[in-house]
Amino acid sequence: MEFEPKWIAWEITRRCNLKCVHCRSSSGLEAKGHPDFTLAEAKRVLDDIASYGKPVVVLSGGEPLLRADVFEIAQYGTDLGLRMCLATNGTLVTQEICGKIKAAGIRMVSLSLDGASAAVHDNFRNQPGAFAGTINAAKLFKENGISFLINSSFTKRNQEEIPKIYHLAKELGATAWYMFMIVPTGRGEDIMDELIAPEDYEKLLVWHYEMEKGEKDILVRPTCAPNYYRVVLQQAKAQGDDFERRTLQFSTGGAKGCLAGQLISLIDVDGNVLPCSYFPLAAGNIREKSFKEIWEHSELFHDLRNFKAYKGRCGSCEYVNVCGGCRARAYAVSGDYMAEEPYCTYVPKKMKNEKLRVKS
Ligand code: SF4
Ligand code: SF4
Repeated sequence: MEFEPKWIAWEITRRCNLKCVHCRSSSGLEAKGHPDFTLAEAKRVLDDIASYGKPVVVLSGGEPLLRADVFEIAQYGTDLGLRMCLATNGTLVTQEICGKIKAAGIRMVSLSLDGASAAVHDNFRNQPGAFAGTINAAKLFKENGISFLINSSFTKRNQEEIPKIYHLAKELGATAWYMFMIVPTGRGEDIMDELIAPEDYEKLLVWHYEMEKGEKDILVRPTCAPNYYRVVLQQAKAQGDDFERRTLQFSTGGAKGCLAGQLISLIDVDGNVLPCSYFPLAAGNIREKSFKEIWEHSELFHDLRNFKAYKGRCGSCEYVNVCGGCRARAYAVSGDYMAEEPYCTYVPKKMKNEKLRVKS
């Protein structure tokens, strides 16, 4: 595997108009101690990235539309040849914003939708009216010919809604629907008890496999559910399936389950470069070093790319190269990012054989 930066999420502000239960950056309307950086600094960061590669750059937050200069940042990246995207909760999208999205050359917008009804979505997002805002944004994007994808986050609170949200994403005309299993970090740490149980998680991945096989209109893939890559191989073999998986667009996934620090990373509002949006340790800071230097020389990134050094079941697993387990979940649960993925139920062949040898 070649370790090049293909997809970078960039927290251009930590301020947000919502207060979602699972928020990675514990955002709110004020982000004390984490001010927005200047436009001049934003341009310097984009110059730095573009001098090294041409990844997808997702302007994220917080809520990126709270920054008055968000479209200047996007335009600057577009002019450098970067593929600029925008991740929004949708509540601030208007006709005028749609015009600016198009003019700035933004290639894809991602929207968050965590319920198929206002009751469920607004509860998850801690904000009455959030559902109506997201649906309105999807309709405006459709009307304006802006490609959008829908990300849906799940816990026990809304796991029953999964098939309904998938159908709603299709109805709304999204290019893709990505089902995301919450990683407990930021405000998400408070909802550790709400995480979907490993057995249910496995069943959902099998449900997703069956759905993906028949899905022709919309791109689908569970995000940050690395063991899906194992489930696909197991199910395809067991059922003798030979269906062609379609290429994802502007997604973190595709090549392998967990890509943290391997093909993707996150730059937070303070300039820290993290392996992904849910991994709270920094590989370096772009105010001190170039992106290239951090990407190529950080010890943390080297560790994450060393699959042979993974521990526990992941370390013994025949699927480690296609899956790798969620390193952020391993860290959240055990404090060791090289430990086994705690939400995978699979026992690798090597371990099963060892057990058999001990018994005989
Ligand atoms: S560590 Fe990997 S699987 Fe986990 S949230 Fe990050 S990118 Fe996703
Ligand atoms: S044991 Fe680890 S590498 Fe193997 S399938 Fe589970 S999460 Fe993936």
